[in-house]
Amino acid sequence: MSKKEKMDKCSFCGREKKEVNLLIAGIDGHICDRCADQAHGIIQEEVKAENTFDLDGIKLLKPREIKDFLDQYVIGQDRAKKILSVSVYNHYKRLTQRVDDDETEIEKSNIILVGETGTGKTLLARTIAKMLHVPFTIVDATVLTEAGYVGEDIESLLTRLLQSADYNVEAAERGIVFIDELDKIARKSDNPSITRDVSGEGVQQGLLKLLEGSVVNVPPQGGRKHPEQKLIPVDTKNILFVCGGAFDGIERKIATRLNTKVIGYSAAKDADQIERENLLQYVSPQDLKSFGLIPEIIGRLPVLTYLNPLDKVTLRNILTEPKNSVIKQYKKLFKIDGIELDFEDGAFDYIVDKAIEFKLGARGLRSICENIMNDAMFDAPSEEIESLNITREYAEEQLEKSGIKRLKAS
Ligand code: ADP
Repeated sequence: MSKKEKMDKCSFCGREKKEVNLLIAGIDGHICDRCADQAHGIIQEEVKAENTFDLDGIKLLKPREIKDFLDQYVIGQDRAKKILSVSVYNHYKRLTQRVDDDETEIEKSNIILVGETGTGKTLLARTIAKMLHVPFTIVDATVLTEAGYVGEDIESLLTRLLQSADYNVEAAERGIVFIDELDKIARKSDNPSITRDVSGEGVQQGLLKLLEGSVVNVPPQGGRKHPEQKLIPVDTKNILFVCGGAFDGIERKIATRLNTKVIGYSAAKDADQIERENLLQYVSPQDLKSFGLIPEIIGRLPVLTYLNPLDKVTLRNILTEPKNSVIKQYKKLFKIDGIELDFEDGAFDYIVDKAIEFKLGARGLRSICENIMNDAMFDAPSEEIESLNITREYAEEQLEKSGIKRLKAS
């Protein structure tokens, strides 16, 4: 075969020039229109596979690696991070487990996080979903009601998950649902009441069905079910549920339980001691029950952990340390205009003090910064400056000017 002949063939399928519509020449070969088309198809599939929630593609990180990832975004909360890392690791091991002879089935371990609002519960769940590339949704337990009452049906929380999975049911079935404010559906007292409470025990019973794993008919558009709507069956067996709640006042339940135990051993002294520490670290399933969660729900949330209230040092770190911290974001915004933005340490201290004073927690850091930075963000782009240093005095002045009272938590 002459060199010329060889070169006029598609190097992929071997078809000759006259057999194809188009033959594109490369340095050392040719490709015909059909093969180019096929190659394009393969690339598309690959890209799709990368972007879709494909469990096979997930590199199962070890618990330490999971925690390292969380550390980049979430400050402190080491205990919660460790517990979450292990349970997420086990959860995904469970998903990839082969059904083998020994018939040991790893059970799902949904998680419950107890901690004041704004301590990072949602952030933790969100960060895990980001790491795993699985569909993730946040739902508020307070909007859920029993079927037949005003509000959203319990199944609707899976609607959001379906939506975040672009209605890919298989992907949704391996997703993570964060149920916020679980404490708000606690029944009012530990004693089962005869009267039904709309948002309490009934909702817990409904939720139970989802948590334990069953096929649920989900209204694709959410809201309430109605007869004409076509429902999508979703199996919740492999969905990881992470619940969060502030459980206001649970410390008292913990204290009561701990005190009853120490009676007989100079109880008063021990109680004082415990009071001073962060009581949440002793939280147990029993306390959740005293708070008003039904035992069945508690049983379906076997991984229980707590988040610490944020102290000054943690808040200060939250401001500057996470990968996408508020301060890093401002610096980036200014950099785009060619301005080097810097903050004096005193300015950071001031921001943190104000967040504590206004009882705004970590959520408040951003709004305080916005008030401080607004003038600078307005003026700087039009001015010929290369750098800007935010001092404590400047921060104070700006925040005073902005009518800080507005920011105060009610
Ligand atoms: P929760 O769900 O506990 O009410 P969030 O996770 O929504 O609180 O936290 C609110 C915001 O505060 C987050 O978006 C994050 O910016 C910040 N934040 C709270 N806790 C932390 C933390 N431990 N590390 C980093 N940022 C935090």
